[in-house]
Amino acid sequence: MTTEIPKVYQVGDVTVTRVTEMMLGGIPPEVYFPGSWDRMFLEENRESLPSGLIDGNSQLIVSIGTWVVKTPNHTILIDTATGNDKNLPLNPDLANLQLPYLKRLKEAGVTPEEVDYVLLTHLHVDHVGWNTKLVDGKWVPTFPNAKYVFPLAEQEYYSSEASHNKANEVNFNVYESVLPVVEAGLTQTIGPEGGHFLEIFKFIPTPGHSIGQMSISLKSDGEEALFGADVMHHPFQVFNPDWNSMYCEFTDQARISRLRVLEYIADRPVIYFSTHFPESAAGYVTRNGDGYKWDFI
Ligand SMILES: [Zn+2]
Repeated sequence: MTTEIPKVYQVGDVTVTRVTEMMLGGIPPEVYFPGSWDRMFLEENRESLPSGLIDGNSQLIVSIGTWVVKTPNHTILIDTATGNDKNLPLNPDLANLQLPYLKRLKEAGVTPEEVDYVLLTHLHVDHVGWNTKLVDGKWVPTFPNAKYVFPLAEQEYYSSEASHNKANEVNFNVYESVLPVVEAGLTQTIGPEGGHFLEIFKFIPTPGHSIGQMSISLKSDGEEALFGADVMHHPFQVFNPDWNSMYCEFTDQARISRLRVLEYIADRPVIYFSTHFPESAAGYVTRNGDGYKWDFI
């Protein structure tokens, strides 16, 4: 599967560019949406759904990536994908990758030294990986001049033994990807209420997928976007907001946060920047009868 040349989105004075680490296809929807997947949804809507959501065998296509935000003053990354060389025994598809992510970042106009801030929505493995890279057997910060900013509740939970059960080991990667930036003194945490950051950003609590996940809103010169993190993994969830993915840890709360986000963005011209949607990963949610629909931009 090839990676398309990233588009550049303008939000007021700010540009937003996607750097895709990888596209993943062939994902069985009944596995990805355990207990929720309804084959009839696809049968009944196949003609009207956006293209690119499934492959020729009706299996899901998803992506993993980073959003690069350039303001007149700063270069910011939102989430850092999976990373190379990571030791993820319960996540074999994501373990020990050797992908040209930093080359793609460069093609998007960013060198690691230029990054001023890394904003992390939550600390799951596929959002923190490029925080660090392996150099001479040691994990070191990939972005040495950046401040890494993330919800405090995520650090507290995933660094506590309480979270280290079998299910959660699929999700967390504190030791290789988070602790090294903490120990380097490069971190800043966001309290449970969220809040403004750098004037243009606002961390908004959207827990459920993980214990302290936050979406990040961007407002510049009267225009607005939302980096929704893993409130949704695939556009099918715009059409079916009660479907959780297999990676959602607190399922009831995940549904509440998803509906809240959809409700907010459906009535406003807010660009939704997803982490895991296929195609451009960006688009608009609008109302569709009693529900919602998705269009890529
Ligand atoms: Zn994710």
